[in-house]
Amino acid sequence: MTDHSRPSLLVLNVGSSSVKFSLYDATDAPAQDPCLGHGTFEVHRDTERLIFRHADGTRQNAQWPRTDGPADSGTLRNMMGWIEQHTEGHLCAAAHRVVHGGDRTLTGARVDPALMGELQALIPMAPLHQPRCLAPIHYLAREHGGLAQYACFDTAFHHTLDPLETSFGLPRAMTEQGLRRYGFHGLSYEYIAGVLPEYDERAAKGRTIVAHLGNGASLCALHNRVSRATTMGFSTLDGLLMGTRPGRLDPGVLLYLMRERGMDAEALEDLLYHQCGLLGVSGGIASDMRELGDSTAPAATQAIALFVRSVVREIGAMTAVLGGLDALILTGGIGENSAPVRNAILDGCAWLGLQHSSSPNTPQGACLSLPDSKVCAWTLPTDENAVIARHALKLLHSGA
Ligand code: ADP
Repeated sequence: MTDHSRPSLLVLNVGSSSVKFSLYDATDAPAQDPCLGHGTFEVHRDTERLIFRHADGTRQNAQWPRTDGPADSGTLRNMMGWIEQHTEGHLCAAAHRVVHGGDRTLTGARVDPALMGELQALIPMAPLHQPRCLAPIHYLAREHGGLAQYACFDTAFHHTLDPLETSFGLPRAMTEQGLRRYGFHGLSYEYIAGVLPEYDERAAKGRTIVAHLGNGASLCALHNRVSRATTMGFSTLDGLLMGTRPGRLDPGVLLYLMRERGMDAEALEDLLYHQCGLLGVSGGIASDMRELGDSTAPAATQAIALFVRSVVREIGAMTAVLGGLDALILTGGIGENSAPVRNAILDGCAWLGLQHSSSPNTPQGACLSLPDSKVCAWTLPTDENAVIARHALKLLHSGA
């Protein structure tokens, strides 16, 4: 029977085209795994669709006519209505993935007006992602005033980077004003760093590169599970080629486009966040790796090859920073699921002494390298929501 007095925590992870959410038992020291299930909420053409998988494997679906974008209040209303009706127990708190936490070194914090002011002030540094992350916090504060809210930052995991990694070659005064590398995907890296000892003691203690390869993609160089270098920078545009973002790009291209093509900041922002990467290189075929893999067009093959090259090139740079490499971990939608892309990346690391088996049907959480390989390689599933829940539940139970 459903226990309506049991408190539960809602975790919201707002992406560019969907909201991933999870529910957790928020009782102090629950007897079993506190995760009650995971859901996704997507807007597809004229329809809003919600799918929820309970921890016992059962599935529920719902849909409504489209109201507006995924982080819009109208849309959140349908989603929140469904969650409240179907949650075992009552919602006592919500926790959010927030892409930019500025200089904050702790992953989680209780939301209050001062923190919201700080996070709002960071919008110019993450103009597309930050407002989307903050919208549900505003919405819940307005419509569900009694709910405790927590924010967890994607930047905090990288507070251990030293100045040689955070500084660009800009005038010192600009660096001091915050024009520096922050790094992102920290919640995913924190999850992987947390589970590494369960899989591979050498990877946990040694020099390990984690490749988070999803629509957004980056690398993080870990030594003893601490972030030492990362490819994303001041913004989420830097580093690897991504679904619709270019990754590392000569800033001279931007100056040229401004001068010779009359592009302003808005036009450049649209180009860099929405029209580049796999989508742009493939000539508009797709930003999605699965669709590109299914295509026989040469431009699709070239886009995948450029993605692989950018990952291999940056693995070389991260290895240099670490002074060698003990392990490579592949995660995110592509790293967890695409055997051809994984194999191409591992082939590109043969010079490091990485030898791998090319099985097309490797399960998640599997070792990819051969026993004699100098560098071990794994594909591990990430779980950002578990990290958000862990921080929020700790703060909740400590009375924050
Ligand atoms: P996000 O950054 O939006 O969280 P994900 O981590 O979900 O992204 O990764 C999405 C990417 O993973 C897409 O490019 C998608 O095509 C790719 N992907 C997911 N499943 C597969 C698969 N089975 N084969 C190849 N690519 C896949």
